[in-house]
Amino acid sequence: MNIFANQVAFITGATAGIGRAIAMLFHEHGASVVALGTNKERGESLTHETNNHETNNKVVFMQADVSSKEAVDSCISQTLDRFKKIDILINCAGITRDGLLMKMKEEDFDRVLDINLKSCFYTCQAVLRPMLQAKQGRIINVSSVVGVMGNPGQTNYAASKAGLIGFSKSLAKEVASRGITVNCIAPGFIETNMTDFLQGEKREKVLEHIPMKRMGTPQEVGACALFLASPQASYITGQVLTVDGGLHM
Ligand code: NAD
Repeated sequence: MNIFANQVAFITGATAGIGRAIAMLFHEHGASVVALGTNKERGESLTHETNNHETNNKVVFMQADVSSKEAVDSCISQTLDRFKKIDILINCAGITRDGLLMKMKEEDFDRVLDINLKSCFYTCQAVLRPMLQAKQGRIINVSSVVGVMGNPGQTNYAASKAGLIGFSKSLAKEVASRGITVNCIAPGFIETNMTDFLQGEKREKVLEHIPMKRMGTPQEVGACALFLASPQASYITGQVLTVDGGLHM
């Protein structure tokens, strides 16, 4: 179903894991997708895979580091030049640099905050003017259950993801009357490169705490993004939708 026909989705962190699944799903449902990521090979593999299909809507890869305001501004302005609008912004780029606070290096704290949180300041600010002019827009920020629950060894990551929730709620209130919704998705443990290190006993220990006794798939998170961007979610803003098999309730 082409529910996003003629719509343009700008997705960060779109070349791997959850972001890649989101990009594929939006493309499948008719959107033109600008997929931003740092890895050229993975970006080209995504465009190759999606643009094979006989569809009018395309996936365009842009290589950029979301922690650079200059790079983000340039990608957004290239998108506006080409497509004339951005209907949907999905901030999915994220990293971890785990360690107990006692031993955490300042550069690891800063890098996580820059990529996971400050990047959203850049992207949201840049899309706001065209969305306000269009009197419509959907912003979806990928947070984490860790931002809600906390997790030892992840003070930097939790701070970035909790920050994203506060940021999203505040922005939601600023733009609600202008036809723009801003929501967060908070995934639990999802099978991607980020959670690859969870093998053997470590994995079993994690699964013990998940009522559904399994990790989620990137597509299950993608489905939630599709819903939040769809007309069915037109009266939902400032919310955090958890996709975690019951881990946090
Ligand atoms: P992943 O490592 O598979 O993908 C992360 C993506 O972010 C990659 O495409 C990577 O290229 C991109 N990225 C990293 N640094 C970037 C930068 N500086 N500029 C542009 N892009 C950059 O991880 P994932 O699991 O797919 O994570 C996606 C998002 O979901 C992240 O924000 C992550 O925090 C969040 N999340 C993941 C899980 C999980 O269990 N996997 C759980 C909760 C939240």
